[in-house]
Amino acid sequence: MAFLLIDDATVFDGTGVPPRDRTSVLISAGTIRAVGPRGSFRAPRDAETLSAHGRFLMPGLVDLHTHMITRDAFAFLRRFGPPMQASDPERFLRWFPAFGVTSVRDIGNYRGILKLRDRVASGDLLGPTILAAGELLEGVRSVWPLSRTFHTAGGAAGEVRRQSEMGVDWLKLYVNVPPSLARAAIGEAHARGIPVAGHLSATSARQAASYGIDSLEHASTLVDDGFLPPEWRRRVPRGSDIPAVRERSRFRWLHADFDGPAARDLIAKLRQHRVVVSPTMVVLENIYVGPNREFEKYGVRDMPARWRATWEGRLRTFLADGKPHSANPAVWSKIREFVKRLRRAGVTVIPSTDAAGWNPYASPGASLHRELALLRECGYSNRELLTMATSGAAKALRREWEFGTVSPGQRADLLLLRGNPLRDLGHLREIDTVFLRGTPHAPANLRP
Ligand SMILES: [Zn+2]
Repeated sequence: MAFLLIDDATVFDGTGVPPRDRTSVLISAGTIRAVGPRGSFRAPRDAETLSAHGRFLMPGLVDLHTHMITRDAFAFLRRFGPPMQASDPERFLRWFPAFGVTSVRDIGNYRGILKLRDRVASGDLLGPTILAAGELLEGVRSVWPLSRTFHTAGGAAGEVRRQSEMGVDWLKLYVNVPPSLARAAIGEAHARGIPVAGHLSATSARQAASYGIDSLEHASTLVDDGFLPPEWRRRVPRGSDIPAVRERSRFRWLHADFDGPAARDLIAKLRQHRVVVSPTMVVLENIYVGPNREFEKYGVRDMPARWRATWEGRLRTFLADGKPHSANPAVWSKIREFVKRLRRAGVTVIPSTDAAGWNPYASPGASLHRELALLRECGYSNRELLTMATSGAAKALRREWEFGTVSPGQRADLLLLRGNPLRDLGHLREIDTVFLRGTPHAPANLRP
């Protein structure tokens, strides 16, 4: 068995404790075998040594909300931009580790995602470890072509069974699942040991939390009409088509009272049921106020032009009359204000991006760095953020026994950086080597 000793690094182990200087890590067969002060353990005589003096070693990052490009998504992507190429699913995958992301939860996709997941796991494809939900469970009406509809509690449970038999790791409930069906789907999924995520609308975040949903997607979906003072509650825009739903969401955020009983109730339920909030701040920024220009340059350099063109096409679908809604910046500030409140209340928030072939400028891998910067503006420290994006995410995925820390027995998904990101998150851009299941890669070799 080949051994590799990463010698004399500063190691942040991902648990939240301060980093330790002069630390060495031994890996073999894709697994961390030993971690300790330099010289404290004996490496096999034939171990290869990588001198990491002056370098910073940490667990690979985890993105809790992605949608990989799969072959069966090509026809859908054609709605927004030029045709994808046969190599795009594999290229898109490799961009994640190129920016330090070594595990993802792919939360709603075409069935092809399960094949992609399995090919990465078997070593046939290079990419982050994927935990995958299957097709979207959309409820009574479908918005997307990749989804399943059902109208009764029995139908919801039947869909859950079908996805479970396909071998999904998670389930994703979508906007048109009403409360009674959400409760049925969550009950059936939990009986089968499958956790459930929701990007909800017909069921409120408060209802889903009380049914025991495991994660709520997008900070923008957390408020309901109960957050509105009575005088505004009577004036909520109605309608179920997409422009009406967006208008209602804007209205709720603009007039939401974060000190009222609904906000207190939501926070209490999120804490009580230990619901993870997966905020996807970066895609919300892109949609509400446009991509951050400096970051966009960094995150999309050398990217195939067709990916960017597809994002531009999708971004246009969020515009009314060719321009963004004038209230969007105010909505964006209120969403950020609410995330600050979640932090102060001790709700579990885990960085996540919505990186996808179709979500505007939520680039594979790099967008997680922007997500961390946005959450920093909501009050999180660098240490909190790096803990959330590693061991915190692994716990949210119930895989803390498998990855998320630098400790013996964990998968050797590691980042060797040229600077310390606890001092400045910008150092996450300076990846010297990314280890995927123990194999070292130079980031530049993963990106073309
Ligand atoms: Zn998504």
